[in-house]
Amino acid sequence: MLPKFRKIDIQSYKPGKSKISRIHNAIKLSANESALGTSKRVFRILNKKIKINKYPDNNSKNLRKQISKKYSCEFEKIICGAGSDEIIQIICQLFLNSKDEVIVPRYSFLMYRIYSKIIGAKIKFSDEENFKVSIKEILKNVTSRTKIVFIANPNNPTGTYLKKEELILLRKKLNQKILLVIDDAYNEYIKKKDYISGLKLFKKSNNVIILRTFSKIYGLASLRIGWGYGPKRIVKEMYKIKAPFNVSSTAQLAAIESLKDERFVNKSFKHNLFWGKKIRNLLNSYKIHTNEINTNFFFIEL
Ligand SMILES: *Cc1c(COP(=O)(O)O)cnc(C)c1O
Repeated sequence: MLPKFRKIDIQSYKPGKSKISRIHNAIKLSANESALGTSKRVFRILNKKIKINKYPDNNSKNLRKQISKKYSCEFEKIICGAGSDEIIQIICQLFLNSKDEVIVPRYSFLMYRIYSKIIGAKIKFSDEENFKVSIKEILKNVTSRTKIVFIANPNNPTGTYLKKEELILLRKKLNQKILLVIDDAYNEYIKKKDYISGLKLFKKSNNVIILRTFSKIYGLASLRIGWGYGPKRIVKEMYKIKAPFNVSSTAQLAAIESLKDERFVNKSFKHNLFWGKKIRNLLNSYKIHTNEINTNFFFIEL
């Protein structure tokens, strides 16, 4: 007889299909991967420097230095993970107990609900308004048990975003004791005047955690690397939970180099905007409506 184990009432994450029989080089669009691949500088540095017989730096120090330099933010408040995915997991482990509640928009990144549910927390879904996150609906779902609100901005899969004033309003109206997690996964693809990244806006906040990833515009999805940014006293506890050597040295090196290659990121941004607009116009001419180009994917109304 085995000891008792839990049965978790949730479907695990199901990636989109990446292979189709008989069709060579099929391109999967559902994972929002970089259209232009990866910066060539990344491959050059990996060829030169990588030592895979050694354990990686446990705390990704050089990468965190590079991040803090690039975004003028504090070294101690950065924590790197095997994808921003792992940061979501750590946040859930740190904050949630069974019976706690988490609010996520109905159409949102699945990992927020999956990791919350694994801990046994209750998921409350907030309705969108015209496929956009609604502050009013989030606030409606708050109870004395609410611990975390997760949003991605711009959001996957809807491609809509909350403006700067709306983010400020959300933080202001939400009970100060509730943690707000803002996932900046697509921030590099949007340069609108009324948009501000979670990192820029909440760098100094004491109740917001920001998520960033190298999987999208930096083209490092396979290396599994992302980071979180939050209040020092929270991040300190997150480090205690983090698995040792969670980010490979290959990933750390690649991420450092990819941050330096601003030309590649600019090129990717322009490529995305140019072709995104073109395809959007074409689809519109067939009366197929999509989101505006704030991300590197389409949310298509069929
Ligand atoms: C793709 C994506 C991520 C990235 O996850 P990683 O674990 O860093 O690969 C995070 N959040 C959202 C909303 C995404 O769409």
